[in-house]
Amino acid sequence: MAVRTRFAPSPTGLLHVGSVRTALFNFLFARRSVGGFILRMEDTDRKRSTPEFEEAIMEDLAWLGLCWDEGPDTGGDRGPYRQSERLSVYLEYAARLLKAGRAYRCYCTVERLEALRRSQLEQGLPPRYDGRCRNLRPDAVPEGASHVVRFMVEDGKVEFEDMVFGPMRFDARDIGDFIIVGSDRIATYNFAAVVDDALMGVTHVIRGEDHLPNTPRQILLFRALGFGVPGFMHLPLVLSEDRTPLGKRHAGLSIRALREEGYLPDAVLNAVAHLGGYPGWSGEEFLSLDEMVRRFSVKRLSRSPSVFDVNALKRMGRAAMERASAEAVTGLVSRYFRDADRARLERAVREVKGEASTLEELRSFLAPLLEEPEPTEKAREVLARPYVPGLLRALRDAVEGVEELDGENSRKIMKGLKRPGLKDREVFMPVRAAVTGSLQGVELNKVLAILGKEEVLRRLERFTGT
Ligand code: GLU
Repeated sequence: MAVRTRFAPSPTGLLHVGSVRTALFNFLFARRSVGGFILRMEDTDRKRSTPEFEEAIMEDLAWLGLCWDEGPDTGGDRGPYRQSERLSVYLEYAARLLKAGRAYRCYCTVERLEALRRSQLEQGLPPRYDGRCRNLRPDAVPEGASHVVRFMVEDGKVEFEDMVFGPMRFDARDIGDFIIVGSDRIATYNFAAVVDDALMGVTHVIRGEDHLPNTPRQILLFRALGFGVPGFMHLPLVLSEDRTPLGKRHAGLSIRALREEGYLPDAVLNAVAHLGGYPGWSGEEFLSLDEMVRRFSVKRLSRSPSVFDVNALKRMGRAAMERASAEAVTGLVSRYFRDADRARLERAVREVKGEASTLEELRSFLAPLLEEPEPTEKAREVLARPYVPGLLRALRDAVEGVEELDGENSRKIMKGLKRPGLKDREVFMPVRAAVTGSLQGVELNKVLAILGKEEVLRRLERFTGT
């Protein structure tokens, strides 16, 4: 049987690194065999779902390269892939359960349910519906009252083998008859997800650990509807550095924010793939998505929550830059430097890209190399020291004496500027200040080589006075 997995986000917020982990595992699991990967929008919460979030989620997934075979935009044989377009399908299956006596209409008011809940909690019991409407006689139905549809949960045990958490066992008595269709005739999450997973032919449900308590309910529904039960794999929680589960509060870890900061997609994927010390690849190894597919195996995935480490993301950012071709990266940063000489831009990118973790950072490294910046306050102080004009004139003479500047002769020239009584930094700092306007940045030899002879001479002119 061909594997089919699905990623089922609710379009109520932006995609973040925690949900990308779920998407990535679904993707890898499907691609490892020649399976299908489905994107399903769980947008039945009409108040909180928006078309903008849906669009953003799809854009971010595509940016990461996690492309789906069937989905709201691409369509497919088992669509539609938006739950809001499937409401009548859920009602049809609810009707089947009602007819088979596996579900019933419940007319209990919110007030009664609230009172019931309170009294159960007071008695130290787990709150659950007491089954009052299970056997309601037709003449006892309150006139004009609205109703929900509840699934009838029979006593017994629900057992399944989770691919990460191992054998799981739940007592159905702790569950209670739960709602499958609300009074607004909209199916609840548990019911809609089961009907969709079955009709869409999903063979493996891969999702966050927070959904583990839903699984016994869903298994009961699969069985009652006469569907096969898929395999389950719950991924341990991803925590932020403050040790709380990742969510909307961590806006900086949304894929949108990381994209805006200028991380490359592979950097984000690698940071996510390494969460929890994923054993398919070792600690710092950087892999392309194709390599991940080849090496993916579900074995030995750790059960403990993992913390998303921003420093690891930065390391992966640098690794992604290093791996990307200078040409490709030049293409990505060229919008920041429209007037720059393309050859110099590419030369600069080649030299410095491995030192930056994001495109924004790369831009800050490149800017003083491509546009002559005004010296900062601190740079000006250094340039005002009395020995500096003489030092810069010596530099000018040395640069004039070479055909073209490269890493090798730049190093020699810098060495030749050393004077007894001047510390190394007293030589390097004024040179850096004169040619880049700042006291920090890319290695000085590289700076000189990237700027080239002519540009270095041009930039020195204003400080050498002749
Ligand atoms: N819409 C659910 C969520 O975003 C998906 C749960 C599932 O995968 O079954 O958490």
